[in-house]
Amino acid sequence: EKKALQVLVNAKSITTDGHEVELAGNIGGLKDAEQVVANGGEGVGLFRTEFLYMDNDHFPTEEEQFEVYKAVLETLKGKKVVVRTLDIGGDKKLSYFEFPEEMNPFLGYRAIRLCLDRKDIFRTQLRALCRASVYGKLCIMFPMIATINEFKEAKALFEECKAELTAEGVAVSDNIEVGMMVEIPAAAVLADEFSKYADFFSIGTNDLIQYSMAADRMSEKVAYLYQPYNPSILRLINMTIKGAHKNGKWVGMCGAMAGEPYAVPILLGLGLNEFSMSATQILKARQIVTKLSFEEMQDVADKCLNMDSAEEVLDYVKSVVE
Ligand code: PEP
Ligand code: MG
Repeated sequence: EKKALQVLVNAKSITTDGHEVELAGNIGGLKDAEQVVANGGEGVGLFRTEFLYMDNDHFPTEEEQFEVYKAVLETLKGKKVVVRTLDIGGDKKLSYFEFPEEMNPFLGYRAIRLCLDRKDIFRTQLRALCRASVYGKLCIMFPMIATINEFKEAKALFEECKAELTAEGVAVSDNIEVGMMVEIPAAAVLADEFSKYADFFSIGTNDLIQYSMAADRMSEKVAYLYQPYNPSILRLINMTIKGAHKNGKWVGMCGAMAGEPYAVPILLGLGLNEFSMSATQILKARQIVTKLSFEEMQDVADKCLNMDSAEEVLDYVKSVVE
């Protein structure tokens, strides 16, 4: 089994009828990036930069961040690296920063909301990213975007940082893609409008499911509502993909669902372009993709969208792929 997977390290992620997708890895730092390459990853679909902030006793400086981003981009040797800007708050706290007391931190002051409020913190990261951009293929992604204005404001700040650096005589790549996570239902529903502005989407199912089902992803008592295969979730994913494709933009997924063996056939059929997962899941996912027909999976996905429950979807997919 392990050997059968190992031969796929340098193989393409392509279906029996010639439809190609990208299998990428989720990382928290440089060590993970090396693992993604070793496991045949075609890129990094999510770099969770919050670890740079959490494993520290101060806000990391521009220089400190630049060194890490540069090293990760160099490790991927020109393959795409999607870096998510600071996603802090909710359950993720910092020892050196005081968060406001809130009834519902997951619905509160976090991620892009905090960054747009504290532009000093945000600018430092954007400048570090711009400086690192010349060492590989950088994509920047904003977390927890709920409105088009938030995206525009974040993107404008990025443009400002880029112009500022250029004026200082610092080289910045001209092909940085700027996209966003789709993890709030409002963004999924309005995906066709968002994709006029964003270069790409990455669907964060961990939060998208939590917010769609109104079920805390940390709570054992309501864990039964964490249902990736619920047709309502599949429809939100479908809206996101179709909305983006309407404007010629690509869509990835970096939530845990992207690496689930029974989800891959459905997501493939829905037209997902990039799947990002932990490094150790990549080869298994490639094995699955190479055995499937895109045309057949489009039909399978279509049927799933019109089912009544997660159980029905899962039973059906199992019957198809086994
Ligand atoms: C997600 O929400 O699916 C996601 C990938 O981000 P995180 O798990 O870091 O919230
Ligand atoms: Mg998230």
